[in-house]
Amino acid sequence: MRSSSVTPVGDTIWERQPPSEGAVDDALREVRDGVFWLEDVADRPSHGPLTADHGTDLAVVGGGYAGLWTAVRAKQRDPGRRVMLLEAGRLGWAASGRNGGFCAADLTHGEDNGRSRWPEEYDALARLGADNLAGIEQTVGDFAMAVDWERTGELSVAVEDHQVEWLRVSGGRFLDREQVQAEVHSPTYLAGALHDDVALLHPGRMAAELGRVACDLGVEIVEDTRATGLDSDRTGPIRVRTGRGTVTADRVALATNVFPALLPRERLRTVPVYDYVVMTEPLTTEQRAAIGWQGRQGLADLGNQFHYYRLSTDDRILFGGYDAVYRFGKRVRPAYEHRPASHSRLVSHLLTTFPQLEGIRVSHQWAGAIDTSTRFCAFWATGHRGRVAHTAGFTGLGVAASRFAADVLLDLLAGEQTERTRLEMVRRRPLPFPPEPVAALGIHATRWSLDRADHREGRRNLWLSGLDRMGLGFDS
Ligand SMILES: Cc1cc2nc3c(=O)[nH]c(=O)nc-3n(C[C@H](O)[C@H](O)[C@H](O)COP(=O)(O)OP(=O)(O)OC[C@H]3O[C@@H](n4cnc5c(N)ncnc54)[C@H](O)[C@@H]3O)c2cc1C
Repeated sequence: MRSSSVTPVGDTIWERQPPSEGAVDDALREVRDGVFWLEDVADRPSHGPLTADHGTDLAVVGGGYAGLWTAVRAKQRDPGRRVMLLEAGRLGWAASGRNGGFCAADLTHGEDNGRSRWPEEYDALARLGADNLAGIEQTVGDFAMAVDWERTGELSVAVEDHQVEWLRVSGGRFLDREQVQAEVHSPTYLAGALHDDVALLHPGRMAAELGRVACDLGVEIVEDTRATGLDSDRTGPIRVRTGRGTVTADRVALATNVFPALLPRERLRTVPVYDYVVMTEPLTTEQRAAIGWQGRQGLADLGNQFHYYRLSTDDRILFGGYDAVYRFGKRVRPAYEHRPASHSRLVSHLLTTFPQLEGIRVSHQWAGAIDTSTRFCAFWATGHRGRVAHTAGFTGLGVAASRFAADVLLDLLAGEQTERTRLEMVRRRPLPFPPEPVAALGIHATRWSLDRADHREGRRNLWLSGLDRMGLGFDS
């Protein structure tokens, strides 16, 4: 844990080495708001809405990765079971279609976070996470899913002196300055660490292909159908109300992520935090040669406010992260996706990382809401006498963890004791966020303090140290 003391506030690399004047505006001259990954899915099939009352064995609410994996895994476990998936918009339109596509074995948002919360079971969690990633890879192969799967690993990079020590203790294969710069040519890199247990995928295609596999396995999918509430009596099935009819189901799995939980008491356990992304045009052969990056690893730098970046198969660079913006009242609104200051900042930091790319154009900018929980990884809850199960809280690391979460949902709904349901991580839920205005004040104080720590060689102030002691501090 980093200690707090008074260290002068200084500039970070992003302020010390800005791109040349006008370079950011030039790069953004022809940008438009739009999610590249969703536009890049040819013939995204659409599914009609619910048209009449319907009966099923398992109803799944939410058509992101967590809901889709739940439907797929349910059919894989029991092909004869009737499964219906209800999606308020289109499959994968939300976080699942607009993320970075880093598909990591990690279930706990970092080993530090996992070990500090569940020291006794962390080794089991690491094994289950590795099995989960292997299970995704297997499914991608078995169903010939066209998701641009690349088992590249992830390269963490230090861009400030104090971060080099953090890398040494972070696990992975340590690379010194020369070695890391041989991998990827950025003058900002001081050291790196390679982690094998990460793959990259095309997020939009992953959602579409999970939808295809679900349909092939016999799942009924309805889009444009928002579940508005649940009710049940003591012994009968659960009724899922929608504006278009009622779905009556023996069991219900809720995978609604950042949107209001249909088990109302779970609503205070997550807050939406907006994460911003830019995507460049495809690099030319010369630009590609100028940055190296032949291993095509996913990249992430190490500040409290960090960037993640990667190549697409057509050699665009996706560059995201850094700003994490919470809006008063836990609101999720399309208007919040437009934030020029965050997108310009990302382009500026991209050009600091790769000054040799000055002149490159950014084609797309977008944002997405992340379901942040106070323990920074997924949690589960049940209701209606164990016949409804809910998961959320992935905090920006749910591409792979959503499949594990789906397995847990199905174990819980089956009333089965499994290695997964015995985990303390599964049995305990995170502390809720306080109501407004305390939530907004606390989140803004945390964000301000994290920024300050990045400007003070990582040293955490009293606020962050206090959160750390309560198990609420985030340390990327
Ligand atoms: C910009 C960004 C970058 C990210 N990068 C990464 C990354 O690189 N790696 C990683 O591991 N994670 C990343 N994440 C996180 C990851 O995308 C999510 O954790 C994951 O997609 C969560 O899947 P989900 O199914 O729970 O949620 P979602 O994809 O949000 O799906 C929930 C679905 O439920 C539907 N829904 C909600 N309420 C209802 C209702 N009442 N009735 C019917 N339908 C409803 C919604 O319409 C939505 O489609 C990123 C997230 C963002 C926003």
